[in-house]
Amino acid sequence: MSVIRDRIRGMIIGAAVGDALGAPAEFDKDPHVTGYVGGFGRWTDDTQMMVFTARAVDKCLRAFASRQHPDFAREAWQQYEHWYDTMARPNSKVVQVNCETVPLIAAIRMQGERGPGNTCMTSLKDGVPGNLARPLNDSKGAGGVMRAAPVALLRGNADEFLAGCESAALTHGHQDGWMPAGYLARIVADMIDGWTISDSVRESTLYMEGKDKSRVGFALDDAIEVAKRQGRVDDLGEGWVGDEALAIAVYAAARSVEVGTDSAFAHGVLIAVNHPGDSDTTGCIAGAILGAKYGESSIPEIWTFEHLEYYKLLAELADRLYVSYESAQMAR
Ligand SMILES: [Mg+2]
Repeated sequence: MSVIRDRIRGMIIGAAVGDALGAPAEFDKDPHVTGYVGGFGRWTDDTQMMVFTARAVDKCLRAFASRQHPDFAREAWQQYEHWYDTMARPNSKVVQVNCETVPLIAAIRMQGERGPGNTCMTSLKDGVPGNLARPLNDSKGAGGVMRAAPVALLRGNADEFLAGCESAALTHGHQDGWMPAGYLARIVADMIDGWTISDSVRESTLYMEGKDKSRVGFALDDAIEVAKRQGRVDDLGEGWVGDEALAIAVYAAARSVEVGTDSAFAHGVLIAVNHPGDSDTTGCIAGAILGAKYGESSIPEIWTFEHLEYYKLLAELADRLYVSYESAQMAR
């Protein structure tokens, strides 16, 4: 398997693994997660929505490959509407058609509600997308950043930072809600390009210096600093809001270098879920970063294959993304 294909698979599968590891610990004040409860990884709304982001990215990459100029935010909104259909209107015609043609969407419909966030549900129910100029609300929840990792693959054809921000601003109006999604897209793109986590964060915050009036850049600098001295994850917050969720995930990913590359994914992702906050979301974000960094081949097999819910369908999605990504890169 090529390195890039392994990393794109790592991003998608890694996010689902982190989400599934963290889900049972979400409201646990003192979790001790070492693996899946009952040996099977059941993922939640974070991965569901990330799948729909990936579908929007895939559509845009195919358009770039045929030298068109797609509107990513518009594609993403349409995909999130599909996600909302699978939650709230299970008998709608749109969903029935999807069921027949896309097995992964049928699977998500079967899953139904997996703790969807209020902001995402309300924004989609109201049916009007927000954007950076016209914020929809004042939400800084982590629902904007948790789903943004695949936006990384737009790099080279579009500004992945801006696209990440726009994808989150569809539902989350506060800059601490949408800006972390831009940072995440950039960091994951750096991982796919082979950067170290600390170099990526340093360059990202330098790139945004003067432009970022949010708390996100400071939160990320803190995350790297606390990780270096092996300080406590609690210092970074609980991860219910966007900037904290990304900071905790980055902290965990930065600590992955404490061990050899063979166990780096497991070491980092377990740090990301073992804290008294939004463990499935921080696990999902850290899993995407770590998976993109070390590849699917670094994820313990006990967490993938038959142990992870819909593993095969997620791997197929990742492979499709890889093919589209390569074609879009060739067309540049
Ligand atoms: Mg969740």
